[in-house]
Amino acid sequence: MTAGIYAQRAALDTLLIEKGLPGGQLNNTDTVENWPGTESIKGADLAMAMTAHAKGCGLEILASEVVEIEPGLNAHTIRLDNGEELHGLAVILACGGHPRQLGVPGEKENYGKGVSYCAVCDGFFFRNKRVIVVGGGDTALEEALFLAKIAASIHLVHRRDAFRGGMILQKRVLAEPKIQVIWDSVVTDITSDDAGVTGVGLKNVKTGETKNLGAEGVFIFIGFEPNNRLVPAGVKMNTEGFVVTNKKCETSLPGIYAIGDLREKYIKQIVTAAAEGCIAAQAVAHFAEEQKAKA
Ligand code: NAP
Repeated sequence: MTAGIYAQRAALDTLLIEKGLPGGQLNNTDTVENWPGTESIKGADLAMAMTAHAKGCGLEILASEVVEIEPGLNAHTIRLDNGEELHGLAVILACGGHPRQLGVPGEKENYGKGVSYCAVCDGFFFRNKRVIVVGGGDTALEEALFLAKIAASIHLVHRRDAFRGGMILQKRVLAEPKIQVIWDSVVTDITSDDAGVTGVGLKNVKTGETKNLGAEGVFIFIGFEPNNRLVPAGVKMNTEGFVVTNKKCETSLPGIYAIGDLREKYIKQIVTAAAEGCIAAQAVAHFAEEQKAKA
């Protein structure tokens, strides 16, 4: 959205292509409390405000899925799922990422029947029920706090004895009476019956002790994998599949840029994604000038 706003304001002929809800992961976020100037806002409301802002700048948003990006010397080709081809001097990849899976028995089979990767989307179904949250990063802590407002009880299972998530969230989680932390433990399998999830198998990684824990919901927040399927061959990625860029958000292919959670970086935040949108759009504006001068 920010790249679109800045590109429009730089008078570039810009098209934003989005296959889902504009705003992406923001729509799966309950409350955002670290967007400067706004102490607290629902993720979906911020997404809508950004969309309205971008449209207000004249940005055209095309609801479609890109299936392939083919780099070219003078223009890059963008193929849509309906077979249509578009051409652009520059492409800014802002494809984000998706939640990592545990890969344990019962996880795939019970997706949508008690296993979830989105508390904002599915929390409602677990009103007054027992829920297990897996993970120790910001997402797990934030989502456990969100679920504590709905569910009867939360067991937060983390594989180590210290959280990775920020200190403010840690304090809130430890102070929340509905959340009980199970340290040093991993989920070995997810059990179910015809009605859905019935619980998980747990293993303490220090003692080797195993036990079963009953629950109707299992929410998994163990990190994030980049949506790099559209990244063209020749664009450098790191070993985890995040796109490597320079300070202008340029990738290793001229005219192809990467921003947000798809890009290799230190901190993944809305504010950093937005900042990179600005940087990439400004860089594209200079690139376009250079190309015009060469022609
Ligand atoms: P994350 O920071 O990578 O944390 C993933 C957590 O899951 C870690 O605690 C990790 O344990 C654990 N984990 C990973 N693989 C596991 C496995 N196979 N089994 C069990 N546990 C496993 O991911 P995230 O929480 O999704 O956050 C992603 C990024 O978004 C981060 O940069 C985060 O700061 C940012 N974010 C920020 C906010 C905010 O500022 N409010 C909110 C959400 C996300 P270890 O700790 O042992 O590695």
